[in-house]
Amino acid sequence: MDLGIKGKTAIVCAASKGLGKGCARALAGEGVDLVINARGKEALEATASEIAEATGVKVTAVAADITTPEGRAAVLAACPAPDILVTNAGGPPAGDFRNWERDVWIKALDANMLTPIALIRATVDGMIARRFGRIVNITSGSVKNPYPSLGLSNGARAGLTGFIGGLARQTARHNVAINNLLPGSHATDRVTQLAMGEAKSRGKTVEEVLEEQKAAENAGRFGTIEEFGAACAFLCSVHAGYISGQNLLLDGGSYPGIL
Ligand code: NAP
Repeated sequence: MDLGIKGKTAIVCAASKGLGKGCARALAGEGVDLVINARGKEALEATASEIAEATGVKVTAVAADITTPEGRAAVLAACPAPDILVTNAGGPPAGDFRNWERDVWIKALDANMLTPIALIRATVDGMIARRFGRIVNITSGSVKNPYPSLGLSNGARAGLTGFIGGLARQTARHNVAINNLLPGSHATDRVTQLAMGEAKSRGKTVEEVLEEQKAAENAGRFGTIEEFGAACAFLCSVHAGYISGQNLLLDGGSYPGIL
């Protein structure tokens, strides 16, 4: 299927590796020029070169912390009028809410709720004026099925989801579709890092914990960043203008409910 987005431009945040990289690679495969972002310059530039060489699109790397006003300004300066915006940032730490003071909450809200909203605020009116826009927010399966130890993520992402639900209803008539992708367990460093914490507390190796987690998955495996990227690219396609305000769970069927 031709996704119809060749020649368009996209900002993909937090994209030197993991799910953001999967989205960037899939969009580039459709001929979309990219501005990609992450904090670490070396890994980001390596990813930019890898994607540009593989696909032939223009890839601009902006090394910056997307959760800061300066970081967002640098990314937006490189691409002030994107056709496509994929919001993403690192996930908050796991832990016990009794240990989280206000500053810990503010950091999580900044990264996983207020940063996407600020980026959307800076770009959505241009999309509306040009009558094309696609915004995909990478949130989490925790929106539908909150993880007990990830209270910061559960709370911040639920806030973003509520906000997007209201906004998406205002933009659909302008051909600006805003949707959220909810990753279940995908094979990225984030999942390995969380498994390291669990391995330590349970006296197991990381490999043992990861194998247990895979076995507990409905699909018997983790998702891949390529599968995740393909879903993102479709939501950014010309065919997805009538999909608006949705929360698409990519978890191999692990969520037990039907809605
Ligand atoms: P990952 O493999 O650890 O990759 C994170 C990417 O984000 C890296 O490129 C990292 O580069 C960048 N990044 C982190 N903080 C940033 C910041 N403040 N500004 C700019 N870039 C930043 O993580 P992932 O698994 O792809 O996860 C992406 C998001 O999905 C996270 O919010 C995570 O909580 C959520 N999620 C993931 C899963 C999963 O199964 N993987 C499941 C549920 C939710 P630098 O460190 O160099 O900045």
